Amino acid sequence: MNDAKPGAVMVTGAGSGIGRDITRQLLDQGTPVAACDLDLGDLPALNNPDLTTFKLDTRDKAALEEAVAQTIAERGTITGMSACAGIFRPKPFFDITVEDWDAHFSINLKGVLFSCQAVLPHMIEQKRGSIVLWSSGLGRSPQPRTAQYAATKGGVLGLMRTLALEMAPHNVRVNAISPGIADTPMPHAVMPEGTMEERARANPMGRIGTAQDMANAAMFLLSDDASFTTGQDFRVNGGVNLF
Ligand code: NAD
Repeated sequence: MNDAKPGAVMVTGAGSGIGRDITRQLLDQGTPVAACDLDLGDLPALNNPDLTTFKLDTRDKAALEEAVAQTIAERGTITGMSACAGIFRPKPFFDITVEDWDAHFSINLKGVLFSCQAVLPHMIEQKRGSIVLWSSGLGRSPQPRTAQYAATKGGVLGLMRTLALEMAPHNVRVNAISPGIADTPMPHAVMPEGTMEERARANPMGRIGTAQDMANAAMFLLSDDASFTTGQDFRVNGGVNLF
């Protein structure tokens, strides 16, 4: 990174949860945001001049490339990307269908690949950029019923580390964040009643994370304060599974 004015940051999965909070924090500090999601939620209604919204599917590489081109044309440059878009649909191993498996891999991994491929040529050209990928504690520490999700989130770490090495000579950094559990619509949609409270009691810090806890870590990685930080997995989880 250099001392130049920050460019725009692309956020996928910006319509909900962690991506929504990253978008809010970026806009609060005056950073232009290219917000991408299948469901943009309340973002278009914000009418913020620093915000451009793209209703797109991250499995659509052409749509991502179009969003990148439009953002560069409007904002001059893209200096960061947080690829938050993802799905989590747990079920017992023998109930996993080909459709379940393909949905997880096409959104949680192929969508991340396409998002990186869309922004990286520009970042390489300007010799400046920071990419934040989203893994999960489940990528390392197993729990029953999560095989298809865990496989993709382990894959995100492999993708992140390889990309970090390939991009380092271009001054483009690539890191991951692995939330333990964060209070967003994603876990609420699938976890039985009481699970969040149980997880809070089992956490050394006595609570589960918030979308803001996760977004705070992303804001650091996207900033110049992290200019020598690449290839790392930030486990933002209140201290669970310390091994
Ligand atoms: P969320 O469900 O609140 O938000 C995810 C967003 O991604 C949604 O707005 C959804 O519309 C969007 N999305 C899904 N598929 C898409 C597609 N194909 N194209 C475009 N947008 C798509 O989830 P969250 O909790 O904010 O999760 C953000 C990231 O953090 C995810 O990658 C998730 O796997 C990871 N994560 C979350 C937790 C947690 O407990 N919340 C834990 C570990 C990892």
